[in-house]
Amino acid sequence: RAAPSAGPKAAFVGHPDMVRIGSNECWTGPFPDAAQAGIAVIPQGNRYEPSDLRQTLLFNASQVEGVPVDHIQPWAGSSDPLCRSIVSFAGPGRGVVTANPTYEAAWMVAKWLNVKLTRVPLRARDQATDVRGMLAADPHAGVYYVCSPNNPTGTITPVEDIEWLVDNKPKGSIVVVDEAYLHFAGTPSAIPMVKAGKDVIVLRTFSKLFGMAGLRLGLCFARPDILSKMLRYDGNYLSYMLPVTSEAIGAHSLLMADAIVQRRNEMIAARDFTCAHLKKRGIPFIPSQANMIMVQWSKPAAEVKAAFAAQKVEIGRSWEIWPNRSRITIGSMANMQAFCTALDKVMA
Ligand code: PLP
Repeated sequence: RAAPSAGPKAAFVGHPDMVRIGSNECWTGPFPDAAQAGIAVIPQGNRYEPSDLRQTLLFNASQVEGVPVDHIQPWAGSSDPLCRSIVSFAGPGRGVVTANPTYEAAWMVAKWLNVKLTRVPLRARDQATDVRGMLAADPHAGVYYVCSPNNPTGTITPVEDIEWLVDNKPKGSIVVVDEAYLHFAGTPSAIPMVKAGKDVIVLRTFSKLFGMAGLRLGLCFARPDILSKMLRYDGNYLSYMLPVTSEAIGAHSLLMADAIVQRRNEMIAARDFTCAHLKKRGIPFIPSQANMIMVQWSKPAAEVKAAFAAQKVEIGRSWEIWPNRSRITIGSMANMQAFCTALDKVMA
């Protein structure tokens, strides 16, 4: 099924000269040292479990995040546990509540389940997720999904607001906190709530700052009884197997604290450069703490996307609620220089 409100495919996608700042990927691959760990394990790829790779991944995640190993479940990306969290906690009379705009996976699952879906506009003053508005809009939901930093705005929802939602939501429901972009922001995580035994699922992915979107790895943090619910139809059998290369690269990457900060700082420099150019041109955008910015045009985003594609720059898509805005992923400094050059031509 087609992705909702996806823009027209850029003419040059896949072209080697195309500047790809459309899909919120990292501009570069895994950390080189971590990639070496993945290459080293390839000869043992004939085994589902060549060694203790999975245990090492879990152990490292447990050490870095300070939660017990039995509160962590790895998956091949965060999409699978995100969908499972909805399937496990939504149902008849137990709908799904999210911000609008936000990452739409929860919307798709809610529609497929045919459960009530409530979308609450971001808070006007700071574009954070309006957690109080979400609870007021449906006080009996099964799932409250909070993406922080939010995709596509890159805005943060303070952890205290998420805590308030967790403490005030209806019994039996879950708060799903999607932290796909947290490493880019470096802001506090919701994981301490998992440690505190609350009704919360925190999702992390290696697809963003860790540069592993195509390698596929994600981590889900939750109480063991919540994880069991998410695994109830395959008893951790189908979900168990992961690409061994990703396990090795991910386990290594988690420990590279300095490299994480360095990558974040490189992104911030490229984002500051881009924002300065947009400001100079008088083009409005939402201040972001992640590797994306939502830029507002004076015409439909689909037209602007096509104009950028003609300049060999693949920008991101728009959301239904904001048809004149496009999401621009922050790539390398060279990518963003190319974006600004193309912008001048597109706006001329
Ligand atoms: N959550 C958010 C907010 C995302 O933006 C994405 C992908 O763009 C995902 C989850 C899913 O990513 P993956 O399955 O690669 O971990």
